[in-house]
Parts: sequence; C-alpha cells; structure tokens
Amino acid sequence: MKKRIFKKYLITLLSIIVLLFLLDLIFPPKVEKSFSKVITAKDGSLLTAYLSPDDKWRMQTKLDEVSPELIKAIINKEDKWFYWHLGVNPIAVARALFSNIIRGGRVSGASTITMQVVRLLNPKERTYSNKFIEMLRALQLEIHYSKKEILGMYLSLLPFGGNIEGVKAASYFYFNRPPSKLSLAQAITLMVIPNDPNDLRLDLNIKNTLKKKDFWIRKFKKEKLFSASSLDDALNESLNSNRYGRKFIAPHFCNYINENYRGTEIKTFLDPGIQQKAEVLLYNYINRAKTKSITNGAVLIIDNKNSSVVGYCGSADYYDYNSSGQVNGVISIRSPGSTLKPALYAYAFNKGILTPKMKLLDIPTDFGGYNPENYDLKFRGDVTAEFALMNSLNIPAVRLLQESGFHEFLEFLGRGGFKEINAQKNILGLSTILGGCGVTLEELTRFYSCFADGGKLHQLNYLYKKENIKSTNILSESSAFLIADILSNNYRPDFPNDLLDLTRLPKIAWKTGTSYGKRDAWAVGFNPRYTIGVWIGNFNGKGSPYLSGSEMAVPLLFDLFNSIDVGQDKSWFKKPGSVLTREVCAETGLLPTKNCSHTVQDYYIVNCSLSKYCDLYKEVYVNLSGTLEYCPGCLPKSGYKKEYYPFYDPQLKLWYMQNDIAFKQVPIHNPDCQIKFGGKGPIITSPSKDYEYFIEEDSNQEILLQAACGSGVKEIYWYLNDRYYKKSAPGKNLFFKPNKEKIKITCLDDKGRDANVLIKVKFY
Ligand SMILES: [Zn+2]
Ligand SMILES: [Zn+2]
Repeated sequence: MKKRIFKKYLITLLSIIVLLFLLDLIFPPKVEKSFSKVITAKDGSLLTAYLSPDDKWRMQTKLDEVSPELIKAIINKEDKWFYWHLGVNPIAVARALFSNIIRGGRVSGASTITMQVVRLLNPKERTYSNKFIEMLRALQLEIHYSKKEILGMYLSLLPFGGNIEGVKAASYFYFNRPPSKLSLAQAITLMVIPNDPNDLRLDLNIKNTLKKKDFWIRKFKKEKLFSASSLDDALNESLNSNRYGRKFIAPHFCNYINENYRGTEIKTFLDPGIQQKAEVLLYNYINRAKTKSITNGAVLIIDNKNSSVVGYCGSADYYDYNSSGQVNGVISIRSPGSTLKPALYAYAFNKGILTPKMKLLDIPTDFGGYNPENYDLKFRGDVTAEFALMNSLNIPAVRLLQESGFHEFLEFLGRGGFKEINAQKNILGLSTILGGCGVTLEELTRFYSCFADGGKLHQLNYLYKKENIKSTNILSESSAFLIADILSNNYRPDFPNDLLDLTRLPKIAWKTGTSYGKRDAWAVGFNPRYTIGVWIGNFNGKGSPYLSGSEMAVPLLFDLFNSIDVGQDKSWFKKPGSVLTREVCAETGLLPTKNCSHTVQDYYIVNCSLSKYCDLYKEVYVNLSGTLEYCPGCLPKSGYKKEYYPFYDPQLKLWYMQNDIAFKQVPIHNPDCQIKFGGKGPIITSPSKDYEYFIEEDSNQEILLQAACGSGVKEIYWYLNDRYYKKSAPGKNLFFKPNKEKIKITCLDDKGRDANVLIKVKFY
C-alpha cells in the first residue's frame, strides 16, 4: 500500500518535472530589454548615454559598478533570502497568501527579487494566475541565470521615476556620479525610490523621499546592517532635490562613436584629462580669435603608443549655434593647404630619388597653364629639398610632384587613408600638393602619426582594446625619420611671430598649412608620444586675413603639446641604422667629384638613395684672360689654361640670365676655330641634345632655341622636323612650343652651314 502511494507521488513529481522542462523549452525566458547606449572613457568614466529605442534612460548595470552598500541595503529590504531561494520564497508566499485572504482582494507581497525581475521584464496585471506564472518564470530564471546575473538585471531595470530606469541612470541623473561612488545616504535614497517611483522622485517630491530614507536608516541601525557611525552620518547628510542634465562629455566624439559603433556599453580610449585640457584651450583660443572673424576650430590628439584617439574636439563649443558648433570639424572635408608636402618629400626619400641636401628648382614655371607662386612671391633659383620643405616652397613641391610621378603619388595618398583624394584621383591636378584637394583633420593627423611610428600607418583606435592593431608599412623607417628631422627644425618662416615664451617650446616636428583664400589654418605636429592635429577656420567657409597656419594654428598646437605631453619621457626619434651621413657637393647635393669646390654633410638611406655623381662642373680650355674658349683642335701655341665651369639646367641658366644673376659662364668659342666652325656651321647650345623635356600636355611651356655661330654670321634660320620655323640673330633667344615627342631641330647659318639636334619630349 505504502509502496503504491510512493510510486504515485513519484510519477506525479516526474510528470511535473517533465512538464516544467517542456514548458521551459516552449516558453524560454524572455530577458531581452533594450538599453541606452553608454559610452565611456579610457578610465571607465561615463562620457554620455543615448536614450534606449523605447526612449528610456536605461543603462545596463553590472554588479561591480554598484556600491556594495546599495546592494546590501536593497537585498536586505527586498529579499533577505535572495541568495538562498530558487526564485520563490515558500514561507513568504504562504504568509502573503494568508494575509491577502484575511484582508481580501489585494494581491501583494511575497515577491522575491527574481519575481520582481520577471515583472520588470514583462509587466502584467496583478492577478493570482499571473502571480503563479511569475513564480514559474522566476524558477526558470534561476535555472538559466546566476544570482549575480539576476541581481544585475534587477539593478538595471528598477524604475526611478520619469524615464529613468536602473540604479546607474538614477545615480547619474539624481546625484551626478557613478553608482560605485554613492554615499550611504544616497544609496539608501536610491533604494527607496523604486517602491513608488513617481511619488518619490527626488526632483519632485524630496520630502517624502527623505522621510522614507530616514525611516530605513533607523531600521538598519536597529538591525545593525551598517556601522552606527556611518548610519548617523547618512542621517545628517543633506541631499538636494535635483535632476542633473544628461552627461555629455566630448560630444562630437560621442556622436561619432554612436554613429559608427554598435554595443550597449562602448569603452573608448578617450582620456578625460587630456580631453578637458584640449577643450579648455581650444575654447579660450577661439574666444580670443573671434575679433578676427575666426569662429571655430577642431583638435585631434592621437597617442602614438597604440594609435588611440585620446582627445577629440569637433568644434570649439558644441552649444554655440551661431558658429555651427554642432558641425564636427574632425571629419569635415577641407582644403589641406601645404600640409601634404611632408607626404611628398617622404615619398621621394622613400623612392630614393631625393635626399635632404639635393637641389630643387625654385624658378617661375608654367605647369601647363598652372603657374604656382610661393607664399612670399619670391623665387630663389635652386634650393635644397630640406629648405624647400621647411620653407614650404610651392614651386619646388610641384616640380617634385611631377618628377616623383603624380599618379603614383596620389595612389600613395590613397593608401595613406585619404579617402576624398582617392575618390577624386582622376580629376585632381598638380595643385593637389598645394591644397587643391580635400582632406579631413582625422585623415591628416592619422597620416602624420605614421611619421612618428617609423612609417607604419595604423587604423585609429577609438575603442578600448588591449591588443595591438594591424598596421601597414607605407614608408620606410628611414624616410619617416628624415621627415621628423627636417620638420623639427625651428628656424623657419612659419614660426609664429608673436610667440612669447620661447623657453616653453615643445620638442616636436610640425608642419603648417594655409588654404587658398585663407579659409583654413592647419598645424599638425608629432613627437614620439603624441600626434596632434589642429584646424582653425569658419564652418561657413568664410576666409579671414588672419587665417594662416603659422599665426593661427601653431600657437594652439604648441599649447596643446605643452599641457598634454607633461611626462618625464622627453626622448626623440632614434636615427635608424639605415640612415647614414655622407659628403655631398654643396651645389647639387650629389656625390662630389674633384671638380666640386664645397661639400656638406647629408643624410642618405642605405641601399635606397640615389648615388649619382655631381656633373655640374666641366673642364673647359680658355685663353689666359678667360675670354675665349678653345677646343682640343684649336688650342693655340701661345698658351691657354684649363678651367672648370658650371653647366646649369637650361631653365635655371635662362632664369639667371633673365634676372641678371651673375654666374660663371663659358666664354664664346674661338672664332678662328676651324674644327668647330670651319664648314661645320653653327653649334646648337639650346636645347642640348641629351636633354629630355617633361612637359604637361596642352601647356604653353616653351623651349629655348640658341646657337653659337662663327664670326661673320649675321642671321640664322631654324627648322623643326625639317620645316622652317623662324629666323633670328646669333646670341638672340628664340622659343618654340613643342608638339611632338621627337623633334629634330636644325639651325642653318647664312653661310649655308647647318647643325642638328634631336630632342625627346615627354608629355604627361
Ligand atoms: Zn658638385
Ligand atoms: Zn675650337
């Protein structure tokens, strides 16, 4: 008999278990709740949060983010046996049932924290049947989730009045602090609000709330839940009726993260200390600049250690509607001015076609109708590459761009992360290097950070992560070093004039930029620790005569470095083993020969830099007074001497002549020479037969025609590809516009003697 009853119970129990198991399968626990997107800084502090899809301030809360006192108090108040029961507390249920029957009607009490979580997840009418389902659901939650997880859900979902949910949101909105930093009084206050969130709202009904709070403090004192002294302090602590605004630190940064990254809680690398310094400096700086019709600026700060974004100001003041403070200047496309020049010089160093002391021409040049000028409207003849970069000269840069390969360089910029340039590479022209293109401050600063990391370009690290991010080598370590070396020189024209305290000069490499029409002022700088980009201008695109990179952007760049780079580490980039020093001819920057009179030291990259010998000076036979040239066939017995003369680039020579700049010129050839003139006719001195001309298609660039003639010749006649062109007198300059790739040039003198040269012209 007993056995049968036992069996019957066992079957019933087993069927209940199977039934529950099936129910669990058919009705899995529903715990999905949408949360506010929370963005935090490097140190975990809150930057901002965004409303959840159902318009709540509901921030997901983890237990370790909440003050242990608040957790202790809440468990004590709501569910003392929370850690012991299985979702339902049978004793409490029995007691509640009994008292409900006695009082009649009202269904209340006996809810464990787990059951409350069920209700918070799926609010339902309070009926006996719903209560029963809640209990089953609570049991289910306990089976699927740990106590820690259930408590986490509870703390995330508790109502705090209005659209505030969860203790995290409540801590920020009522006490302006994270839930880990609550005082005991604040913790107990938060504990009581959810009981009647709309009636106990701290910002509306503080009297009621405080009364409840004091009641519980006294109760806890009796129960000795916390030390008597801390409870006394809590009783005396005065709390204000307040609701703080939404936290919104680094607004442009947060909006950028919100738009580009998914997740409930997004931890970033933003450094609140650095951000605050940058914001204050930029705000004050632009405030002072407003008298100069300059209303905005943007700053991006990259920590070179891991390419993380630690400071980000999209505008000087997010809330300044008059100057479009809500536009994000970090990602706005603007003209870069001269800030791309270091990329070009680095590219040329990397290609081996340039070293710092090599010469570039700085003479008026027509690049197919494009006639760039320097910022000071001066020309300097020829200049070293490092001088041209440091002085941001335009003509040498455009020439270098042409020599380096314009399209290849644009491809390089594309690989360097310049999206707009990459998209427009088929329509951009040589003016790209002077700012005739579009870049963002983000792209530019990121690109400069590759100089600080041996030519390695990284993705910018916005989100906090430990592992290193992938990088691509876009330049050699050596060329990156050469750029850092040149750009760290402070003796240069873009040094701000009114910099007061020269002792506070940061050791950085930097470059400025000013866009056409003075619409944008740029300064980007780096040292081994940080790369900082500064843009100053107006979001409506208006220019200002004061907008120049050196005067408007550099002072802020220096201030930023001085206030941010404050550590002990003041190290500078180490010269890589592949960068060595060599002696070069001072006049050409090429390897010296015995004919070069002055030499200087220059850096070069082993197994990369061009090793060409200087051929500027050539040996010439002249008479003793240096007024006649001889060739080996007309050397007089009366005496002669050997002398060295420079053979300049024909365009530079012409510029010297046009500008009356004296240079050592080879004297005219011995007119009695039978070898040179006897029956052989004129000598074409320009164009020289080995010279290859690079000319932009459809340009108006012309080539000089010049010939040396024997005495007695009055007129000479020029033919191009055997067709008559023009006549001129010996020694006169005549020009022609090339239109073929191979041109035979013929010069005929009035004695019927002729000379020919064949030249090559490359159109691009
Ligand atoms: Zn030389
Ligand atoms: Zn001769």
